[in-house]
Amino acid sequence: MSKGERLIWFKGNIVPVESAKINVLSPSSQFGANVFEGLRAYWNVYEKQLYVFRLLEHVNRLQDSIKMAGFETVFTNAFLQQSVIDIIRANNFQEDLICRQTVFLDGFGSWSATGPVEMFIAPMAKGRYYEKLQGIDVCISSWERINEKSLSPKIKLGANYMNSRMGQLEAVRNGYDSAIFLNQEGTVSEGPGSCVFIVKDDILITPPLTASILDSITRSTIIDIASNDLGLKVIERDVEKDELYVADEIFMCGTAVEVAPVFSVDKVQVGQGTEGRITLNIKNLYFDIVRGKVKKYKKWLTPVYGG
Ligand code: PMP
Repeated sequence: MSKGERLIWFKGNIVPVESAKINVLSPSSQFGANVFEGLRAYWNVYEKQLYVFRLLEHVNRLQDSIKMAGFETVFTNAFLQQSVIDIIRANNFQEDLICRQTVFLDGFGSWSATGPVEMFIAPMAKGRYYEKLQGIDVCISSWERINEKSLSPKIKLGANYMNSRMGQLEAVRNGYDSAIFLNQEGTVSEGPGSCVFIVKDDILITPPLTASILDSITRSTIIDIASNDLGLKVIERDVEKDELYVADEIFMCGTAVEVAPVFSVDKVQVGQGTEGRITLNIKNLYFDIVRGKVKKYKKWLTPVYGG
């Protein structure tokens, strides 16, 4: 590999990103017929090790997406995991990164094709998502979140992200950093690429899986560590829009955004308009875990080098 050359895993080979080309007439290209995962790996400077966070859970969810999208099943879990490790290794990354693993419909079929199924995996060096922001200002989107009656938000389907796109573009156009969608019931759903938690009277509350949200791996990690390690009461229940305006703290979470404090909703300040104490505690523990500093959670980490 020449210096600065970016390699990606493409249809079973490791190639420079420029030479990975897909057919313009593929169902993926034409109709968004692809399913994907966004993963992160964290560099542990003391151990000189890169750890992929919850690789198994991502691969399991990818298999569910493949099934729900009606693609032929051609990859084993072991293969999906190993391919991620292989391409990160090939790039010799020694820094935090984000990795897109996309399974797509190739060939010349229509939107109802079930194959041929192919994959690319593209890691990219990436630190924090909201690099310059301590917290974010969000609006309630005028767009409704897609729901299980039409297009399941549980599938990480490329086409689903056109709903995310509408919400995000509108938010940015109106001067916000991001948006929170309501679902068809009018209760809080999720962000364009993240889930939502609120804190009220020291209780952590998040919309349930039935609120038209993705079954977020970060969300379930936070539910787990907040109750088991931080001694917090955590409740999964429907959250009304007005609860956002009077919450003590709000944060968004996801693989990409990690834990992102929300400072205002529709220009209404959340709490003190700064990062709340509980959010900070969760964020600090989350970063310790993903970097491999918490022994009991090393089970969630897959080392890239050695082994
Ligand atoms: N909701 C949506 C719509 C997303 O795209 C994401 C990012 N994958 C999330 C929530 C957070 O999911 P995870 O924690 O698994 O990254």
